Amino acid sequence: CGIVGYIGSQPVVPVIIEGLRRLEYRGYDSAGIAVAGNSSGLELRRAPGKLRNLETVIADSPIYGTFGIGHTRWATHGRPTEENAHPHRDCTGSLVVVHNGIVENYLALKSELLCKGHKFVTETDTEIIAHLIEEELKQSPGIALEEAVRHAVKHLTGAFAIGVLSANEPNKLVAARMGPPAVIGIGDGEFFLASDVPGILHHTRNIHFLADGELAVLTRNGVTLTDFQGAALPLKVQRITWDP
Ligand code: GLU
Repeated sequence: CGIVGYIGSQPVVPVIIEGLRRLEYRGYDSAGIAVAGNSSGLELRRAPGKLRNLETVIADSPIYGTFGIGHTRWATHGRPTEENAHPHRDCTGSLVVVHNGIVENYLALKSELLCKGHKFVTETDTEIIAHLIEEELKQSPGIALEEAVRHAVKHLTGAFAIGVLSANEPNKLVAARMGPPAVIGIGDGEFFLASDVPGILHHTRNIHFLADGELAVLTRNGVTLTDFQGAALPLKVQRITWDP
């Protein structure tokens, strides 16, 4: 229900936890975070219940890095357990997805993916998105993560705002939207993804509101925007002057 992503030079965990806290008004039943770009690949921490529980998990088993994504979940498919909390992984464990919304055709997609040998560990609709992206990467070796995401989202019916990280392209955060809101924050050498402005407004007031059918690639050097066919789109950065 809430997404916060960050790529920059600040320690990512506090940026994400604080951002998710500022999005708490959206409601949630569990929370999770993935941090990438360190020697151990992608690291996940998740917990059912309040953000405080996730903070306890992280305090017991710290993770460090300067980019990652976090999520607060409002369960639609699958109980609010630790396993069903986002981020969700593909089979290889090198790719993670956070998702707001509902994949209406997830059962049909899941049975197709099961036939192709994918194994699922959660009851969520979201997990299939990670496997779809993995499948696209497998079918077209060497394509960029954003291209795989672009192909994968074409299979989805329903509503989604997603954030995707891959340990194999550890300097990139991919976001796409069709339905639920998502915003991109443009900072000074740092870039943000959030489901709503209050999650990142304390870091930057320069915001691009992701439109339906837009896909953004965030790196440390900036943000590029395309439609789901891959055609370049201009960023429309607005200066937010109001306070939450
Ligand atoms: N449908 C997804 C799930 O149940 C995402 C729910 C949300 O927007 O938090 O895991």
